[in-house]
Amino acid sequence: MFNYAAVIKPILIELDEARALHQPVRVEADLIPLFTKHSSFKTIDLYPIPQGPICGMHLSNAKSGVAQIFYRRCESHFAKDLVASCPECQLARVTVAKELVHVLDSNGARTSIEAAPDLLIDLLLKGALAENSHVQADSTAVFWAIEMLARFQHRLVQLGGPLGSTSALTNAKTTDNWGLYATGYAIPTGVARIAYSDNFMNLAKTFRDAVGLPTICVI
Ligand SMILES: [Zn+2]
Repeated sequence: MFNYAAVIKPILIELDEARALHQPVRVEADLIPLFTKHSSFKTIDLYPIPQGPICGMHLSNAKSGVAQIFYRRCESHFAKDLVASCPECQLARVTVAKELVHVLDSNGARTSIEAAPDLLIDLLLKGALAENSHVQADSTAVFWAIEMLARFQHRLVQLGGPLGSTSALTNAKTTDNWGLYATGYAIPTGVARIAYSDNFMNLAKTFRDAVGLPTICVI
């Protein structure tokens, strides 16, 4: 897990530099160029697939440096742009981001997952994933997918430090309505809720501290 943090660190830093914090992260325009830059895979192709037993998977060929990601895409918007407020489109984004994290696995043993933190994240994400039964219990990759799509620095701004949360976040917490953040990040509502939970924030801080990523607001 800490190894993942080290490998994904330059991607998170450059993502914040390349894409304004208030804008949603685009998988193809923002994430894929960073993963081709910072992994041994110089070509990463996305293949949308229709409804079926597979939610997401990746095939990578270290020799050719080509990774292929298959992901189940929303039927209503299959041939169109993803819609930020559509639950199936939101799920498709988390799926692709998760599979991108797995592309880092293929870099070699240095990204091997340590069992204990993975179990912790598993417990943490259980509720959010239960709402989206199509996302397999694949917690470490989902954790980093969330960190890429609902960025830490943006969450810090919303949490607001000593002055308190933004009214939008206070409202989301009070009413347990995460629609604004789900649409803003284009991720499922349950995932948005988890991203702002104390446990998730603390875990994210722990991993960021471990690899020297900022854990105070630097924007
Ligand atoms: Zn859709």
